Amino acid sequence: MPLPFDDLEPVVLSVIVPAYNEIAVLELCHRRLRGVMEGIGLPYELLYVDDGSHDGSGEALMALASQDRHVRTIRLSRNFGKEAAITAGLDHARGEAVILIDADLQDPPELIPDMLAAWRSTGADVIAMRRRHRSGESWFKRGCAHLFYRLLSRLSEFPIPEDTGDFRLLSRRVVDAIKRLPERSRYMKGLFAWVGFPTHEILYDREPRAAGHSKWGFFGLVRLALEGVTSFSAAPLRWVTGLGLVTAAAGAAFGLFIVLRTLQGHPAPSGYPSSMAMMTFLGGIQLLSVGLLGEYVGRIYVETKQRPRYLVRDMGETAGRPASRRE
Ligand code: UDP
Ligand code: MG
Repeated sequence: MPLPFDDLEPVVLSVIVPAYNEIAVLELCHRRLRGVMEGIGLPYELLYVDDGSHDGSGEALMALASQDRHVRTIRLSRNFGKEAAITAGLDHARGEAVILIDADLQDPPELIPDMLAAWRSTGADVIAMRRRHRSGESWFKRGCAHLFYRLLSRLSEFPIPEDTGDFRLLSRRVVDAIKRLPERSRYMKGLFAWVGFPTHEILYDREPRAAGHSKWGFFGLVRLALEGVTSFSAAPLRWVTGLGLVTAAAGAAFGLFIVLRTLQGHPAPSGYPSSMAMMTFLGGIQLLSVGLLGEYVGRIYVETKQRPRYLVRDMGETAGRPASRRE
């Protein structure tokens, strides 16, 4: 079956831009991206993925696609989250090199030529952009991100680079490799690391958002962090086993101690407060462990359902067809 974009003009570079309620920055974003891409002079496509926005971003992007032949817009049927939006972009990108970039201009498009130059000169398959600086983000978010990246790289069996976001260039073979990964829960940074391939890092300063506000609330980030940890490491399960062993051993030792003391003629200590403390402590640990286990079981449950990772509402790409074949 021919793919819907079979008859589009071939491209070398694809830029994937996930956008969720980004109407405030879209125009500026497009202008800057376009300027940079025109300057490079290779055939390119700008692949905007509208992740179920409800502020008119989707309509604006569809309009762009009908005006600018370099623009293709994929509209998802609802908000599936950034990871799914990127997946949709990767599935539809056609370039030999694919660049992922945020719509909010925190990742400056002006760095794309440097990424390309590095791709050509080093021959690496992945050019990962590492943040030197995160301006415009609260110290709390920076602190949490710092801790999270370090924790994750300790836990997982293969290195997941720290302070590296989704801003990166991927060669065609990496994109194809990622497309073969079947999982539903997609912690992208982990998947990028898992597929491996020679990677070159470039340091950059992350800018504050050009306009609008971050789509990640505190709980969204906690969810992403949990997803990252549970998709890439079973170490927390081992910790819980270890914790269980240690508390059981401590309990047994304490019991033995009391028996010995009673045998020596000391009256049994009256211990309402201490038993209450022990009970709540152990109860807490048990609930925590069950919750953690549930987290992994839930992950299995989601995977077994085998639902699609996103649904496409419509695609805007008519302007990209050669004139003879336009409907
Ligand atoms: N985004 C998305 N779907 C979502 C949330 C975010 O496609 O459900 C996009 C968003 O439009 C932006 C990028 O992901 O282009 C990064 O989001 P944001 O700037 O809110 O995250 P932050 O930079 O604060 O981590
Ligand atoms: Mg941002």
